[in-house]
Amino acid sequence: SKTRKSFSEKINDLVAKYRKVDEDFFEDLEEVLIAADVGVSTVMDLIDDLKMEVKRRNISDSHEVKNVISEKLVEIYYGDDNEESVGLNLQDDALTVILFVGVNGVGKTTTIGKLAHQLKSEGKQVLLTAGDTFRAGAIEQLSEWGKRVDVEVIKHSEGSDPAAVIYDGIQAAKSRNADVLLCDTAGRLQNKVNLMNELSKVKRVIEREVPNAPHEVLLVLDATTGQNALSQAKTFSEATDVSGIVLTKLDGTAKGGIVLAIRNELGTPVKLVGLGEKVTDLQTFDPQAFVYGLFA
Ligand code: GDP
Repeated sequence: SKTRKSFSEKINDLVAKYRKVDEDFFEDLEEVLIAADVGVSTVMDLIDDLKMEVKRRNISDSHEVKNVISEKLVEIYYGDDNEESVGLNLQDDALTVILFVGVNGVGKTTTIGKLAHQLKSEGKQVLLTAGDTFRAGAIEQLSEWGKRVDVEVIKHSEGSDPAAVIYDGIQAAKSRNADVLLCDTAGRLQNKVNLMNELSKVKRVIEREVPNAPHEVLLVLDATTGQNALSQAKTFSEATDVSGIVLTKLDGTAKGGIVLAIRNELGTPVKLVGLGEKVTDLQTFDPQAFVYGLFA
């Protein structure tokens, strides 16, 4: 609703100002989209598409163009893949392993806690693994979340090998017949080679121990950091195969356009969104509902 307020107000102002679409209308529209963090290259694609569509359909009334904008935003989101499924890839009768990656402070631990709570309330048995053995306090923080949502946390001491902790997490999940194992990892971007080595080692352990796992590699990004989130996404995508994005702190920004930029520029779907600090503030992301909601 925060994104809708700023975005739809501006679009409505634009429609009222121009009534008939012309070059200036498109220039102003470009500004509105960029201000909403949609991302320059995505905006350029969108504006080009829009101009062609308006010409093809012979539309000049700015009210009608508004409908075309929402159609195009949905198209931009899905790209060539409009059959994309919404939500996480969870196994029905086998252990699901989900790996979380992302830099410190983006909300990784909080997301793991919230997701653990959500899955647990759906009747699933959940286990957490404290794979960020690097940052002081990370293990303790995950343990706190474990207590809060009443889920067991598998951990080693600070500085130990993350792959070894994840291995123990998997063995514990198997012996307890757990449904879902959520694995935290360290997020130091400063040293890309280390990050890559660490992530690929952790992934190898998971791949070896559980068939077809990890079932998701979720990159957590802070929506309030805008284009910075986009560059983090690029770096992590180079380090590992990211299957989905968790966009946190959407409650703290009116610039929800970052969702479109991420999907369009990286091709990675946004699967979950964080909308606050409470345990229930995590939602499955539905792109169509999001885009149409902008114009509601
Ligand atoms: P980590 O370092 O990536 O594990 O990040 P944390 O989980 O510790 O989160 C960093 C800060 O962001 C904490 O103060 C969280 O309460 C806060 N946070 C996480 N997710 C959200 C969210 O969706 N909305 C808001 N407003 N705050 C969040």
